[in-house]
Amino acid sequence: MPHEIRSDQTAQKPDSALAVRDLTFAYPGSREPIVRLRRLELASGEQVVLTGSSGSGKSTLLHLIAGLMDPDMGEIRIAGTAMGSLRGSARDRFRGRQIGMVFQTFHLLHGFSALENVLAAMMFSDLPKGEHRGRAVGLLERLGIERVHAPAEELSVGQQQRVAVARALACRPTLVLADEPTASLDPENAAEAVGLLKEACRESGAALLCVTHDPSLVGSFDRHETLEALSRMPAGAGA
Ligand code: ADP
Ligand code: MG
Repeated sequence: MPHEIRSDQTAQKPDSALAVRDLTFAYPGSREPIVRLRRLELASGEQVVLTGSSGSGKSTLLHLIAGLMDPDMGEIRIAGTAMGSLRGSARDRFRGRQIGMVFQTFHLLHGFSALENVLAAMMFSDLPKGEHRGRAVGLLERLGIERVHAPAEELSVGQQQRVAVARALACRPTLVLADEPTASLDPENAAEAVGLLKEACRESGAALLCVTHDPSLVGSFDRHETLEALSRMPAGAGA
């Protein structure tokens, strides 16, 4: 039986995992902002599913939250720190420590084992080096990956998804961003994968923001937001 991840709930966590205010972003050359988001807050450990149709700007929003791109206007705070106040390597280190990401196609390093994929994510973390291996193996086993030395590309798609979840949680992040995390799975495995993702985030004390166009994921979350409703600007506000 896979063992439990050591609970991180006792670690000091700020009250707010994520606070987004009055965000706008347009890709260069486009007339209309693709992201317009008035307000989105996730408390520490909170789990939210955010739905929007394909092309509505979900992935763009997650890139903004992760500080991979800068918004035209607005503020993003992760664990109380404004992403816009950090630049360059300081921002990269902050992202590495505070944010875990799960992508639709997982982006695992091929040619490296499941374990090496998780360890690679911990390279720049604050966790003591001596704890890396134990935590990585514990996370993988908790997520049902027994063959931790198997090359990533030899794992099934469902197993690769679980390695991606382990990697996202490796640095004990405040916030996990999941972008269509089940889109590569069939419906049965998708439901199980979302359950595991939620459980693993809960056990690790991470808040979870899951974006998807798939309405079937909504039922398993306590809180559901739609990009459409969050994007509605107050009357009189510009486009
Ligand atoms: P979603 O994840 O909801 O499907 P995306 O955030 O990927 O939506 O894309 C939103 C819109 O922005 C789409 O119309 C897409 O074509 C456009 N877009 C995405 N990436 C870029 C880019 N790098 N440059 C210009 N337009 C882009
Ligand atoms: Mg997308």
